Amino acid sequence: MKIIVVGNGGREHTLAWKFLQSPQVERVFCVPGNGGTAVMERCQNLPLKVEDFEAIARFAKENDVSLVAVGPELPLSLGIADYLLSQNIPVFGPTKAGAEIEASKAWAKALMAEAEIPTAKSAVFTDAGEAIAYIKAEGAPIVIKADGLAAGKGVTVAQTVEEAVAAVEDIFQGNFAQVVIEECLIGEEVSVLALTDGLTIRPLLPAQDHKRIGDGDTGPNTGGMGAYAPAPLCTPALLERVEKEVLQPTIATLQKRGIPYIGVVYAGLMISPSGEPKVLEFNCRFGDPETQAILPLLETPLEDLMLACTQQRLAEMPPIEWKSGACVCVVMASGGYPGEYEKGKLITGIESAQTTGAIVFHAGTKLSAPAENSPHPLTDGGRVLGVTAIGENIEGAIATAYAAVDRIQFEGAYSRRDIAQKAIKRKE
Ligand code: ATP
Repeated sequence: MKIIVVGNGGREHTLAWKFLQSPQVERVFCVPGNGGTAVMERCQNLPLKVEDFEAIARFAKENDVSLVAVGPELPLSLGIADYLLSQNIPVFGPTKAGAEIEASKAWAKALMAEAEIPTAKSAVFTDAGEAIAYIKAEGAPIVIKADGLAAGKGVTVAQTVEEAVAAVEDIFQGNFAQVVIEECLIGEEVSVLALTDGLTIRPLLPAQDHKRIGDGDTGPNTGGMGAYAPAPLCTPALLERVEKEVLQPTIATLQKRGIPYIGVVYAGLMISPSGEPKVLEFNCRFGDPETQAILPLLETPLEDLMLACTQQRLAEMPPIEWKSGACVCVVMASGGYPGEYEKGKLITGIESAQTTGAIVFHAGTKLSAPAENSPHPLTDGGRVLGVTAIGENIEGAIATAYAAVDRIQFEGAYSRRDIAQKAIKRKE
């Protein structure tokens, strides 16, 4: 079987790697892929744009591709699944209508209200004056969200009314027509990703991301500095509740609206100190870096699950099987990220890092020369590598992941040193 993976991040390297673990997958093509997928055996990067749906479909047909798995939200919200389905190409990822769950926070809030899904109290405004009046009446802390894809940068958790007002003004001066204003929730966050064929939903292991740049969750937000799974915060009982109170009503409401949803429903949840889950956001795709921490633990072939989703037979699949133990992914980033950073730095030590047993997923990397000319990997983005390790327990996974991180060098390399420490604290 041949599969196309759309995207170029750590998540897509992980998807390609996971597919190639399975003997029934002959070859994976990445559009456009990165420096890691370029050199992986049986994997090939295609120099196509993720928005060039026609070229992707043509390649899929000419090469007898069985499945297209879409990583990022942007092509989904632009309608890649709609186009591929119109060409009879099986695609794992929702149509444009389904991707609204992530692309519009106002849309997602309306869906949650209709489905009676627990979430923060909120209001939506198209007028800055009305939004500001609401903020003044509610007081701070309060959360301001731009209504649209903002690559993780559209949310301000404002501690003062002034900060909230400034955030609203910024949003309306930018390219956004609406703002969502939300009650500020307290608690600890967890990500529950689930696979769905639009009828049945199967949760994956719960994971915890680390969004802030600094140790102890300090400094600005990033795309995610590391993740681990399973997150003990989300106990099996809580996961069952999330399935019943969040995931199933989401799918039922999408169905009621006539939206056939195939792909990942990702619920970003806040768990209150008393253990109540509330939805912070939905994403319409695999999380990055959660995917790097979840998929290495998956025993069931991923392509079997995804194909079952594309054929509406997820209910017939046996329960998803998982390796025991834990998995930790530590992101190595370019110095300066999430602000300005330089690219093109030589990365060394990856092979040595792999001898620890860790898996090194590439994100923002490229090769110094074509794959056949023994190239060197170079940094090419903010988040550069996702150094990932499985352990019998979380302590073991952390130790291996950091032993591997310490063997990799590039100028300015930065990583958090406390990934997964929350799991250790919870144990204590
Ligand atoms: P992502 O980076 O996952 O794409 P996003 O920009 O889509 O994020 P959200 O996930 O909605 O936005 O919010 C980003 C972060 O802001 C959350 O992970 C959480 O830490 C914080 N946050 C969002 N909503 C709330 C809330 N109601 N109360 C407290 N914190 C919140």
